[in-house]
Amino acid sequence: MNIKTKLFTGIGSLFLLVVFLSLLSGYYINKLSNDTKNILADNYNSVKYAREMLMLLDAGIQNSSICLEFEKNLKLQQANITETGEKKSTYALLRDYDKLKQNLSDTALYPTLRKDLLTIISLNMEAIQKKSNIADITAYDAILWIVVGSGLCLIIALTLLVFMPKNIVKPISDFTQSIQHIAERNYSERINLKRNDEFKKMAEAFNVMAEKLQEYNNSNLAKVLTEKKRIEALINNIHEPVIGLDEDLKILFMNSEALQISNLKSEEVIGKSAQDIAVKNDLMRTLIQDFFGEKSPSAILKIYADNKESYFQKEIAPMNITHTGETGMHHIGNVIFLKNITSLKELDFAKTNFMATISHELKTPISSIKMSVQLLENIKIGKLNDEQLHLTESIKEDLERLLGIIGELLNITQIETGNIQLSIIPTNPKEILDYAIITTQMQAEQKKVYFSISCPDNIPSILADPEKTAWVLINLITNAIRYSHEGGTVYLTVSTTGNNVLFSVKDSGQGILPEYQERIFDRYFRVPGSNTSGSGLGLAISKEFIEAQGGHITLKSEYGEGSEFIVFLNKSNMN
Ligand code: ADP
Repeated sequence: MNIKTKLFTGIGSLFLLVVFLSLLSGYYINKLSNDTKNILADNYNSVKYAREMLMLLDAGIQNSSICLEFEKNLKLQQANITETGEKKSTYALLRDYDKLKQNLSDTALYPTLRKDLLTIISLNMEAIQKKSNIADITAYDAILWIVVGSGLCLIIALTLLVFMPKNIVKPISDFTQSIQHIAERNYSERINLKRNDEFKKMAEAFNVMAEKLQEYNNSNLAKVLTEKKRIEALINNIHEPVIGLDEDLKILFMNSEALQISNLKSEEVIGKSAQDIAVKNDLMRTLIQDFFGEKSPSAILKIYADNKESYFQKEIAPMNITHTGETGMHHIGNVIFLKNITSLKELDFAKTNFMATISHELKTPISSIKMSVQLLENIKIGKLNDEQLHLTESIKEDLERLLGIIGELLNITQIETGNIQLSIIPTNPKEILDYAIITTQMQAEQKKVYFSISCPDNIPSILADPEKTAWVLINLITNAIRYSHEGGTVYLTVSTTGNNVLFSVKDSGQGILPEYQERIFDRYFRVPGSNTSGSGLGLAISKEFIEAQGGHITLKSEYGEGSEFIVFLNKSNMN
């Protein structure tokens, strides 16, 4: 039976029973009312009239007014004859009264009249008794039928109360639970109902839907797994180490190259915390340093793998995605790429060696050319005419430039091979400055640039390599002269601050644009459009020399206003 029929039958029969009970109660109430009404009208009035007449009789019927009263009651009784035998008694009373009326003093008739009246009373009393019994029976029947009807109503209501929730609410809660499971992606959820109604049909439809969802999900899962495998194959085929980390630094993937150079196995690392792995693995420790705010000393890693030293450049790419329906980016981890730059490094070594050899080999012949030119100028050898003198001067200038460049190249090869030879000793900063001034004085004069020098006499000594520091100052002053306008001033100041002695070289030349200021100390970097010749190595060497001595060098420059380079070096403890 379906739910609709069940509800219709249950509630319908309850309704019918209620209607039946109402009709039954109405019927019995009506019947009881009729029964009591009859008693009142048929019998109670007759007893009342007979009693009135009996009382008149007891008092004595002596005059016409009593007669009238008696006759009035007698007439009323005549009109209210309802019981068998009552008519006969009433007429006997009438007859006997007529006899008495003819002779009112004949009291011998009183007993006969009293008997007639008592007969009427008893007939009606009997009838009252009988009708009261009938009313009792009617009341009993009414109670019986009403109890039966109410009982039936109660049974149906109880049946509905017990079975309705089970029949309707239970399947609904089952459905709710199953729908929740589906929402939680548990697509294997099914509903089995052993009934044959609308819920059964609903369960069948639900099961079909769940099956289709399961099929769809499985096909998607298979697709996702294939795509995952494809990406894994792709990452494994990259011939450079790649490591994927989630936002909690758990290792998502590590390709075979990465496993090989870190000496790790896939099963030991995938899904594990990179921090835990880093406790025992030096490479992992270096790789994840950046995530803890520690900047790794250099992005170039030297790794001993495959029986040879390899060089890798570390790059960290954040993985950011946008979830469906959202606009903002979510950070879901990072990919660490290690670019194998061993071949570049090898080329770089070859270049450095080549530069070192060439510079070294060139230095001797150039020095000897310089000597020869100086000899040429000697009058003992022969007097040169003005034109020849001019030519030798220009050869000397070019030789000086050439020697300068060779010196720079030698210095940079020393830096690149890590072979800077320093002899750090307590030195007087004034002496270094004076030496640099004397060396650059000529250039300044040629360009009509003036020096403004400020160096206190009691300046403390510094811990420095005097030769290298002088080289740096000469380079800075030479630049200041080169980039100053004719007639300009270069300010050379020595001062102290805290534990440092400062050498400042300030010019009022063209200055350096902000976008180039960061790269100014890079090797071979020259500001685009610099019209003076140069190698772009001077500042790079200066920085390396000063840092190797435990100091540092800074630049302050305003484009169009000039530049100021400041060298900081440590004071000597002997002060
Ligand atoms: P270079 O041999 O080219 O002078 P440096 O390393 O000494 O090499 O300088 C790098 C570049 O920095 C120069 O090419 C020049 O453009 C810029 N530079 C250096 N010093 C100054 C300065 N005082 N004023 C303006 N630009 C400068």
